[in-house]
Amino acid sequence: MAEKIIVLGSNGQIGTELVSALRKTYGEDNVIACDIRRPDYDIKNSGPFEFVNVLEKETLNSIFKKYKPTHVYLLAALLSATGEQNPKLAWDLNMNGLLNILDLAITYRTAKVYWPSSIAVFGPNSPKDNTPQFCVMDPNTVYGISKLAGERWCEYYHQKFGLDVRSIRYPGLISWKAAPGGGTTDYAIHIFHEALKRGSYASFLNAGTELPMMYMDDAIRGTIELMNAPANRISMRSSYNFTGVSFTPEILAVEIRKHITDFRLTYTDNDPRQLIANSWPKSIDDSLARSDWGWKPEFDLTQMTADMFKNLQK
Ligand code: NAD
Repeated sequence: MAEKIIVLGSNGQIGTELVSALRKTYGEDNVIACDIRRPDYDIKNSGPFEFVNVLEKETLNSIFKKYKPTHVYLLAALLSATGEQNPKLAWDLNMNGLLNILDLAITYRTAKVYWPSSIAVFGPNSPKDNTPQFCVMDPNTVYGISKLAGERWCEYYHQKFGLDVRSIRYPGLISWKAAPGGGTTDYAIHIFHEALKRGSYASFLNAGTELPMMYMDDAIRGTIELMNAPANRISMRSSYNFTGVSFTPEILAVEIRKHITDFRLTYTDNDPRQLIANSWPKSIDDSLARSDWGWKPEFDLTQMTADMFKNLQK
């Protein structure tokens, strides 16, 4: 049977790139982009788009009925920093949005569901260096709490109902096509735009804040590789640790100065995102993803920085 794919939350930082990658592989008409926001030119003109709110069960039901998707990617969520500004909405969207999709996937016998988790599932008592797949997890943001609960629901639906649901704990994702959606790692995108515009940037995270990151090209490739892996290679039905490269604002600035020699980096004080960053891992052990389905990142810091500037300068 030919794949019919629905992407919910298609207009965000990840969806914008995932939809176009999926359309290249599966055909434009077979990938239906869905969001509550009006789509940008690329998504609207390269295939079908539907206005869908993942919290409205009837609309969702009619979309499943209309398209009978074989694969569903659920990307709609409130991210870490935005979630702290509206914790109840973050919980509602991140939790009930997921449960709505898991239930419909059972009803309509959807072959595969993809739902991303995050490094935000870890907390202040999780090991910071090379954070393992299994360890203490005590997230202290509503975003992290909702992602950890979501992971447990995914595993539950797999075990109870046999649903083929797959997930990755994304680190901070760096990209140039769409604006980031309000996460704690957004500084690592803003810095490139400001470096080009002003030659300087005031970082809301301090100089030594090391966090796991990944270039979007790797994240999209990894996501599609996970979804294409044979089911018997997927031993983790909550969510896989997944990482590219770890760095601090200070280290990123050194790399940026290879392109903009007089780039100046300053730091702002008392940003609430610093506290979130302090509770997250510095680096991630993703050996299970590597051994189960062959995950391997391609972009290091130098390649990522060069590619960001090449594309933003266009
Ligand atoms: P984003 O905020 O850029 O995009 C989310 C999209 O969902 C937006 O287009 C928004 O309009 C849409 N949306 C919001 N509420 C909706 C609703 N009720 N119904 C339908 N659509 C709705 O987020 P993103 O960065 O693309 O992240 C996608 C997923 O990946 C999220 O689950 C996020 O937690 C996860 N993730 C992202 C990162 C990252 O660095 N970007 C890191 C870890 C995990």
